[in-house]
Amino acid sequence: MKRKFEHPLIYNFGPGPAMLPRDVMQRAKEEWLDWNGCGVSVAEMSHRSDTFVSMASQMKADFRELLSIPDNYHLLFLHGGATAQFAMVPLNLLASQGSADYFHTGTWSGKAIDEARRFSKINVVSALKTPTLSIAESSTWSLNTDAVYVYYTDNETVNGVQFADIPDVGDIPLVVDMTSSLLSQSIDVSRYGIIFASAQKNIGLAGLTIVIIRQDLVGHASASIPSMYDYAVHVKHHSMFNTPVTYSWYIASLVLQWVKQRGGVSAMEKLSQQRSDKLYRLIDESSFYHNNVTVSNRSRLNVPFTLINEALQEKFLKQAIDRGLLALRGHRSVGGIRASMYNAMPIEGVDTLVNFMQDFERDNK
Ligand SMILES: *Cc1c(COP(=O)(O)O)cnc(C)c1O
Repeated sequence: MKRKFEHPLIYNFGPGPAMLPRDVMQRAKEEWLDWNGCGVSVAEMSHRSDTFVSMASQMKADFRELLSIPDNYHLLFLHGGATAQFAMVPLNLLASQGSADYFHTGTWSGKAIDEARRFSKINVVSALKTPTLSIAESSTWSLNTDAVYVYYTDNETVNGVQFADIPDVGDIPLVVDMTSSLLSQSIDVSRYGIIFASAQKNIGLAGLTIVIIRQDLVGHASASIPSMYDYAVHVKHHSMFNTPVTYSWYIASLVLQWVKQRGGVSAMEKLSQQRSDKLYRLIDESSFYHNNVTVSNRSRLNVPFTLINEALQEKFLKQAIDRGLLALRGHRSVGGIRASMYNAMPIEGVDTLVNFMQDFERDNK
């Protein structure tokens, strides 16, 4: 088939489903027809088979090791994406009564709030300051001391806003959506009640959803919710209550090995810092590009920016594609440009983008 782009080297800056490490895709390709000498593909094999189960337990061990997950936390591999978690969290934690506090810092926390409100009483902490986007100082947060949990979105993928620190909410369990940041930074799991993430940004393919949940938070759902939405059911069945998204598990298992070989999460964090520093530096030093987020809350994963002369945007996006730089268009709700740079993005990809941006500025000033 004729390729859409003639450029020899492609860098995919898509926000998700996002690029995968090339080595992982190469290995998946080699193993596609015959996995582990089984004579069949992993995609056509029982999730109860010894080979699959042993892959799954290795994957769990790798996850636990990479994130230093303490023993009093369950690690679940579910489906339904982060969006299913928007419902599962309130359905499981607010079954009887009570309310929860939600930080509203952008698009994804907004969606989580809308979903939680279908079932529960939610107190919204409006924490996004404008016009330059920043997360409001903790002294302004209207937190309830009797909230059952506090919810926040670590990295707002659409808006490019990231919490600089874990919000301090005392002893109240903290629930975090880390869909676009899990595995890109070292975290202290013990500070959280629940951590969840869809896989299609930093961990692998769409379909798989990671949930890390403190043991004491399991088992509080009311009996009337669907079994599929009850954490206790998934804990009991070791994430195999029904057929899991087997191929997404398999790809995630390869990605975890890839992360381990490269020095683990702390190495990923350094690279993430390097990538985003390069891009923000260029933007800040130019009077041609602009990022609208205060420095301490800038996302290390998703860098949104605009051209001061917005009339040049379509030309910019078209020429970027000619240089092999794909999927840079900003989210439809906010417009502009957005470079998403997860673990799989090589530094050379960022260098290529920076060089292109400098050339484009010089040619269009
Ligand atoms: C992408 C994203 C989601 C949505 O994930 P789905 O798998 O589509 O449900 C939720 N939260 C954040 C922070 C995201 O980046």
